[in-house]
Amino acid sequence: MLDLHHGLSRRQFLAQTSCFGAFYAVAATIRLPTLAAELEGDSRISQAVLVDKGFAAVRKVGAGLYATISDPSKGNTTICNGGFLVGKDAALLIEGFTTAGGASFQMETLRTISQVPVKGALDTHYHFDHSMGNSFYGANGIQLYAHATTARRIIDSYGPLQDMSKEAALAPFQKAIVDAKSDVERQHAQSDLAAATGVVAVTSATVIALPNHPLDPTKSPVKLDLGSLTAVVEHYPGHSGTDMVVRVPEQNVVYAGDLLFNGWYPVCFDEKATVSGWRSTLKTFASWDKDTIFVPGHGQICGQEGIASIREVFDDIAGQAEKMFKAGVPAPEAQHRYVVPDKFKNFPIFAWGFTIGPAITKLYAEWGAK
Ligand SMILES: [Zn+2]
Repeated sequence: MLDLHHGLSRRQFLAQTSCFGAFYAVAATIRLPTLAAELEGDSRISQAVLVDKGFAAVRKVGAGLYATISDPSKGNTTICNGGFLVGKDAALLIEGFTTAGGASFQMETLRTISQVPVKGALDTHYHFDHSMGNSFYGANGIQLYAHATTARRIIDSYGPLQDMSKEAALAPFQKAIVDAKSDVERQHAQSDLAAATGVVAVTSATVIALPNHPLDPTKSPVKLDLGSLTAVVEHYPGHSGTDMVVRVPEQNVVYAGDLLFNGWYPVCFDEKATVSGWRSTLKTFASWDKDTIFVPGHGQICGQEGIASIREVFDDIAGQAEKMFKAGVPAPEAQHRYVVPDKFKNFPIFAWGFTIGPAITKLYAEWGAK
């Protein structure tokens, strides 16, 4: 009898077949309110949401400042968070999201509260869930800002996937499952395949559009005047080498992009990700006003407690990695041996080989491992 489910638990089967298998599997198990408990009652933040589409909800977080918070368990229209800033004379949209429909939803929401001209949109970095909806901006003549290397990295990372069979694109991930030396390694490899399957499905179906306003990180910060509201765009190292944050210093509001995963394990796979750089960026964030509101790239809106929490996650990964390093555990083995402590057991892991694994490998490299 031909049984598709043979040898796989139902959960594994779903994880391998659904578009965003691993991502949804973890996301569906946790409730994702848009606001951290610590911020309930903060007078700057509207307690009611402006619009809630299920896949994302928009909430006011300051004067002319709005946060779009996604619930990835409800599909891939947006996946990441974003937001928009509305000044007297102009507006700025944050993120291209995963789909043009996601970018369009945010624009429509902006138009329910203001008709000011849109000065532009900004991709906080090049990753697919922040940039594959860029074509909405292209089609609507909306200027698109991003770190100077974002366009190149979108082309290099997602261009080849547009003209490659799904099988070829996923072959290295399939091979890692076959080559796994233990059940744990196999589970990790399966979570990587599920995540990669989602990325390939989206990127191969996308009409890619590129930012046309490259921001030189050496000239950061760049100030965008929206009329009695100034967006300060700054580059910080850590997550992707292309990360830009948008700050509104007078209101202590920060759109952090993926330099902040709030209540999630940080995604560290990028070749330009740097764990030491990211930790120093988070130290800078922690030095900002104690009442700062952060809109993270993923997870709930938070205050400084969100920064403290992701710093603790990095401390824990680094602590466990250092013990293994000193005990002579080789990097390929150490990257699979990290144990999620009880404290962080509800933190979603996008996929092992995109988060914890590479964080450990990068730490080893920083410590001079061969
Ligand atoms: Zn990212």
